[in-house]
Amino acid sequence: MRGFGFAEHGGLERLQFVDVPEPAPGRGEVRLRLRAAAFNRLDRFTLAGIPGVPVERPHVLGSDGAGVVDRWGEGVSDPPLGTRVLLNPGLWDGTCDACRAGREALCRNYRIVGEHTQGTATALAVVPRRNVHPIPPQLSFEEAAAVPLVFQTAWRALKTIGEVGPGDRVAIVGAGGGVPTAAVQVAKLLGAKVAVVSRSAGKFARSRALGADEVLRFDEEHPLDRALWEWSEKRGVDVVFDSVGAPTLPRSLRAVARGGRVVVIGATAGPLVEVDLRTLFWRQASIRGSTMASAGEFAEVLGHLSAGRLRPVVDSVVPFERAADALARFDAPDLFGKVVVSIPESARGPA
Ligand SMILES: [Zn+2]
Repeated sequence: MRGFGFAEHGGLERLQFVDVPEPAPGRGEVRLRLRAAAFNRLDRFTLAGIPGVPVERPHVLGSDGAGVVDRWGEGVSDPPLGTRVLLNPGLWDGTCDACRAGREALCRNYRIVGEHTQGTATALAVVPRRNVHPIPPQLSFEEAAAVPLVFQTAWRALKTIGEVGPGDRVAIVGAGGGVPTAAVQVAKLLGAKVAVVSRSAGKFARSRALGADEVLRFDEEHPLDRALWEWSEKRGVDVVFDSVGAPTLPRSLRAVARGGRVVVIGATAGPLVEVDLRTLFWRQASIRGSTMASAGEFAEVLGHLSAGRLRPVVDSVVPFERAADALARFDAPDLFGKVVVSIPESARGPA
């Protein structure tokens, strides 16, 4: 079957259609016939090659996917074939101490579909039965594919790791990516006062439409911490949600109140930072890492999605034949939300 990904690591010029075998579902697994996939920044890192993460090549990219149940593996008897489902790209072993305690995000063998395994930008995908969930009827396949990775990331990072509660002041660094557009909604749902801080004012109206109480621009002359200091009436903010990394994290730390938290879920603009430890101890602040989510957290996201309290944000839907455009779109200054790829029936044919 045809998949979209790469045979050799590198930049966008390495992207190509590849031919991979049709996967067969094993015991406890389900095979999906995919109708839509969505990319994340993670796919760009997987393409480039992540140190210590060997991938099978040719490699199919894509962590997010939605489609219909196509075949059951041994021991599986539901959901009925043809059911519209989305897949949770988080893979855990279910047997280690963390998994047995319901803390699957801390599984010692945690993996992600499309990073550690073949991805969703193809016709068929196999995942454990516990990783497929019915799509709420009001959502299209494209909208469903825009949900799994970013919403579970934002949910765990803000609720569990950031301990965001009603009345907290929360700052989301960055406006347009899939994770920030999910994080604004999650923070509001948790009862926080939310400011989006961005270098570009171009997306402010759309951030407000998602629920942001304030949108703040920063630059070298008016840095992020000063903007947030003013917004918080010189108290500092309770939680900063930072997925940018090197250019913003030192300022994010300076923006927190006493006891505040900086939650790091990615480092899209660079992973190495210098931290002023005096700020850390005097404010009794903390920098906390978070990634993906546990099964229970994912279920909470789906509950809010079904009830319409969380809404997928789709930047654009790109046909499968132009999947390379979807990965290039992450560099576009007007990106807002998820880039989704529609998967045609013909993807099942040879490359
Ligand atoms: Zn485990």
